[in-house]
Amino acid sequence: MRPDIDNVNNFLKKRSFTVVILGLILFGGSQLSASCQDVSIKKDDIVSQISQKQIDRYFQEIIRLSPRPPESDTFRKCRLYLVNTLKSFFLKAWEESFTASTPKGAIGMANVIAEKKGQGDRIIYLASHIDTKIIDGIEIQGANDSGSSMAALLELARVISNLNTKFTYRFVFFDGEESIGKDMNERDGLYGSKEHVRRLKSDNLISNVHAMILLDMIGDKDPVINRDLNSSPALYSLFAVCCQRLGYTNLCMGTESYMYDDHIPFLRAGIPSLDLIDFDYGPNNSFWHTEKDTAENVSIKSIFKIVQVVACMLESLERPQK
Ligand SMILES: [Zn+2]
Repeated sequence: MRPDIDNVNNFLKKRSFTVVILGLILFGGSQLSASCQDVSIKKDDIVSQISQKQIDRYFQEIIRLSPRPPESDTFRKCRLYLVNTLKSFFLKAWEESFTASTPKGAIGMANVIAEKKGQGDRIIYLASHIDTKIIDGIEIQGANDSGSSMAALLELARVISNLNTKFTYRFVFFDGEESIGKDMNERDGLYGSKEHVRRLKSDNLISNVHAMILLDMIGDKDPVINRDLNSSPALYSLFAVCCQRLGYTNLCMGTESYMYDDHIPFLRAGIPSLDLIDFDYGPNNSFWHTEKDTAENVSIKSIFKIVQVVACMLESLERPQK
C-alpha cells in the first residue's frame, strides 16, 4: 500500500502538474473506470447528515480570522475557535505545541487535535491545515487555502461525534503547512504534520493508524480533485467510487500529479494516505497564494460535495469487510 516515496522524491514538487502520461495510459484510465463501475455501497447515515448550512457557518467564522500566518494573533484566535467548537461536539480536543526551526529562526507552532473514540483502537485521521501563506506585500486571506478544508473538517467532526464508530477518529488541524521562505522544500514546510508523525512514532502508534485523508483547497467554484500519485491508490479508488455513487463524476476527473502536502510524512511512516486537493483555483490556478483567495471566490457547495464524498468513504471503511 505504501507508495515508493523515496524513489519519487525527485518528482515531489509542491503542487506541480507533473502529468505522467504513460501512467495514465497504462494504469490510470483502466483502474479508475474499473473502480467507478464497482458501485456497491449503499447510502446510509454519514452522508445524509452532512449539512451545507453548517459548513457555511463554520466557514464564515473562520474567514473572519485571517490571514493566519504562524504565531499571529488571528492564528491563535482561530486555534481557540477550533478547540472550542470541537469541544462543543463533546470531543476531547487539545493543542500540540512545538517549536519549529525555520529559515527565519525558531517559531512557536501548535496543531489542534480532537479525538472521537471508536469501538477498537484502529485510527482514521482526517486532516487540514490552519496557516495561511506569508508573502511580503500581499494579504492572503486563505479562504480556500485553508478555510475551506477547516470548515469541512469541523462538519465531519460534528457528524462523526454523534455516531457509534468502529474506528477511532482523529481530526487534526496542522500548523506550518506552508513554507516560511518562498518555496516549499524538504526543510521548509509541513512542520505540523512532521511533528505529529514524530510523536506518533515515539508513542508507538503508527501501526494503529488505518488511513489518513487530507483535505486542502476544496472550495473552488469548479471543483476537480487531482489524482495524486503519491497517495495510496486504494484510497483514491474508494474516492472515485464515492464520486460516482453520489453523482459527482467530474470531481474525480482531475489531472495526475505528485502532491507534496501534509500527507507525505504519514506516507513515509507507512500509513495509507490520500490528499484530496483541487490545485486549480481560479483561471489557471491564478487565485492560489494571492489576494484573490477570498470568500467570494469560494463555493460552499463545492466544499459540501467533497465532504459528502469523504463521508461516503468513511461509511465504506466502517462497513464490516467481507
Ligand atoms: Zn497554500
